[in-house]
Amino acid sequence: MPRSFWSTHSPTSAGTRRIEFRTPNAVTGAEQMQLRTGGAVNLDSPYTWSETSGAFLDVPPSDAALDILDYLGVDLTAFPSTSGPGTPTNLGLAGYLLFPHEEWGTDSVQRVRGLPGEANNQAGWQAFVNRLPYSQAAKDAIVRIQTDTTTDWIALKHGAGMTPEQRVHLLTTISYRQWLMDYLGAPEEAIREYQRGSHSLLGAGAQVTSAVDNRLLERPGFSEALGLPDPTALADNGFPGIGRTPQMSWRTGTDLPGSRAWPDGNASVARLLVSRLIPQTFPDGQPNVENVVTARCDYTRLDQGGSPVRLRLNSLVYRVVPGGSRGGVAKVEYQDTRTGGTHFVHARHVIMACWHRVTAQVVHGLPQQQVEDLSYARKVPLIYARASLNNWRAFADSGVSSISPRGNSQIWDSISLTMGQRFGSVYGPRPTALTSRRSSTSTWWRPGTTRHPSSGPTRWAGRSCWSCRSRTSRAGCTT
Ligand SMILES: Cc1cc2nc3c(=O)[nH]c(=O)nc-3n(C[C@H](O)[C@H](O)[C@H](O)COP(=O)(O)OP(=O)(O)OC[C@H]3O[C@@H](n4cnc5c(N)ncnc54)[C@H](O)[C@@H]3O)c2cc1C
Repeated sequence: MPRSFWSTHSPTSAGTRRIEFRTPNAVTGAEQMQLRTGGAVNLDSPYTWSETSGAFLDVPPSDAALDILDYLGVDLTAFPSTSGPGTPTNLGLAGYLLFPHEEWGTDSVQRVRGLPGEANNQAGWQAFVNRLPYSQAAKDAIVRIQTDTTTDWIALKHGAGMTPEQRVHLLTTISYRQWLMDYLGAPEEAIREYQRGSHSLLGAGAQVTSAVDNRLLERPGFSEALGLPDPTALADNGFPGIGRTPQMSWRTGTDLPGSRAWPDGNASVARLLVSRLIPQTFPDGQPNVENVVTARCDYTRLDQGGSPVRLRLNSLVYRVVPGGSRGGVAKVEYQDTRTGGTHFVHARHVIMACWHRVTAQVVHGLPQQQVEDLSYARKVPLIYARASLNNWRAFADSGVSSISPRGNSQIWDSISLTMGQRFGSVYGPRPTALTSRRSSTSTWWRPGTTRHPSSGPTRWAGRSCWSCRSRTSRAGCTT
């Protein structure tokens, strides 16, 4: 009997879905492929995979994942460059903060800090907050949170004498919001400025992430005056935080090459894995770490009789009955999600690689305690959305490269234009060759509307060229 992998929609797991945009060139109509991640972005701090972190719900240390990378031919020290040049500064685009009408009565935007006179000091922050629609009390608190380096807020509240270890313990027991409000005296309104800072990595806001996690995320409000261990010492000792990444990125030894990313994220891991296990699925030859991003996969060969490994898509497992009395052979029942038909297979070994809560529901006859344990942890939604634009007129006309809302509204945490060359052209257009005819990609982070930024009708005469920013007509633009 072949060993099989099961997945509902794709040969990759939910965290490794790949997005292949095929965007027509606005002028020539020729198609251009751009890749983006549909889930996990990178191999996160792989040099720490064999260590425990001390965080909540840590994974047992193991070299197995590193061994898999070896098997796939992924050499972390010889990984193709993953950093793109980004949006060229000479395009005149800038990041903006959005203060939505839900909380401020009217929508308004302000450029991010960085105008003349807005250095990273008290006067600079004062100048910056004076542009923002906060009350004076909230503005004062923001300046205090950002710039105070002399006040021991813990001693002020609990008296002198707490050891660094006791201080760290305290920060593991309170949220970042509590830290800012109860210790630094910030009014509720000032929390709007900091609420979303941990969303993009931890999927949760200031009200539920611990103060100490935010310390390692380099969120403001933690000066030397607090007598805390420095971040590396803090991470080396480990603490019960929400996730591995904040701790692992500070560990001693993390000057070793850090996270690694393909343009389509960890989908490349899954594709490399499939190419090794079912070689016939990649008819042009076994891909390597570099050309895997464009290698062609023939899905019709995933599930062929006679192959020692078969992968069946669109198969929703709804019951697994362990072997037990049937001589150790388990029965796996599934529904074909395209036809609705139900099927089953028998297997000597079944690996439940889906969410633990699903395992608790579909595996027949598990002890009650195991069901309860599997159902204990909950997930938070973490949503990225990618949209491919065949032009970036709206961004160019407005001079906006990104929008980051403040407060608690349901607007995406961050909306930004991304461009740059990685792995050849599959990550997007080369900035040096940006012209009105090039497409680009924009990224939304986390929950909210999925409103597509329509580029609107063509408006050329007398407007700034949205490529070179000069005032020109279409005919006169030479970039
Ligand atoms: C937006 C986002 C970004 C992320 N970025 C990163 C990152 O940069 N780096 C990083 O290390 N991690 C990242 N993560 C986390 C990472 O994606 C997950 O930790 C990882 O995918 C978990 O892998 P898994 O195989 O356990 O589960 P999953 O990836 O969730 O795979 C479970 C599979 O089981 C299938 N399944 C479920 N139920 C059934 C059923 N009844 N029958 C058949 N199939 C079923 C699902 O369809 C899915 O394919 C990110 C997660 C998200 C959501």
